Amino acid sequence: MNTIAFIGLGNMGLPMAANLAKAGYTVKGFDLSEASRAAAEGEGIHAVSSLADAVKGADAVITMLPKGEHVVAVYRDLVGLVAAGTLLIDCSTVDVTSARAAHDLAAGKACHSVDAPVSGGTGGAKGATLTFMCGAEAAAFEAARPILEKMGRKIVHCGGAGAGQAAKICNNMILGISMIAVSEAFVLGERLGLSHQALFDVASTSSGQCWALTSYCPVPGPVPTTPANNGYRPGFAAALMLKDLKLSQEAADSAGASTPLGAAATALYDRFATAGSGDRDFSAIVEMLRGSGA
Ligand code: NAD
Repeated sequence: MNTIAFIGLGNMGLPMAANLAKAGYTVKGFDLSEASRAAAEGEGIHAVSSLADAVKGADAVITMLPKGEHVVAVYRDLVGLVAAGTLLIDCSTVDVTSARAAHDLAAGKACHSVDAPVSGGTGGAKGATLTFMCGAEAAAFEAARPILEKMGRKIVHCGGAGAGQAAKICNNMILGISMIAVSEAFVLGERLGLSHQALFDVASTSSGQCWALTSYCPVPGPVPTTPANNGYRPGFAAALMLKDLKLSQEAADSAGASTPLGAAATALYDRFATAGSGDRDFSAIVEMLRGSGA
């Protein structure tokens, strides 16, 4: 596996592709945006102006695209262009149904395929410290692992087709709900005259402890590295949290799972984004709950 085609050179795709180039792969990149293609050239990526040029002679094709509809559309074209046996890895966050449709298209061309969404954000993409959650047959996963290891620190095989996307949306549903829970507790604490630090010191070492509190505290002060200390610049934008929560609710509906807190978190992030805060960090929802933000 020497030559990799990378489709979708946006905020995540560009630094991921750059890490593959740094690791010694020949990387051919394609994005619909001319500006993204130009930025890729400066990162050791051979930017080309069509999907066909990118995938020609590639041993593996990685996609990092906005939504399921984009992934399925690109896979429809891809399977007409690649040789049988090419490894296809989709790293986008998409609905489970689209992920399975992409696997089916790949199987129709006798290609190995992996759904491999990530967590870790743009910082993880730049630093090659992403977590990959993979859904694939064992052989496809083993073929993809050495490539993913050049872009991430933890590579988890979650199960068969779509299992990576399932893990991703379940995890992010926990995150959305727990960020709101932590934010509500800080707002209640404020009304009760409790300092942020006092609540943090207690809850971070008590049964309220969770990642949204100890690593991503939504109020300034207790954890100096969080977006709360930086005007809520993302980080992880509220619009992306809303996207993932909506995917969790679509999946819950189609699988017949009851997720009342997931539904409530989706409604709150929808309100927050609709009020104009979609591009702020998702932890800024504490301001809406306090009544001081959008
Ligand atoms: P982005 O919008 O910055 O990049 C997507 C790129 O895909 C754009 O440059 C766009 O021009 C390109 N594109 C769209 N359709 C195309 C096509 N048919 N052919 C070629 N290029 C095409 O988005 P991003 O932030 O890089 O996110 C990509 C995926 O990663 C999304 O599914 C997102 O949910 C997921 N994700 C993002 C983050 C994050 O922090 N940004 C974190 C985890 C997961």
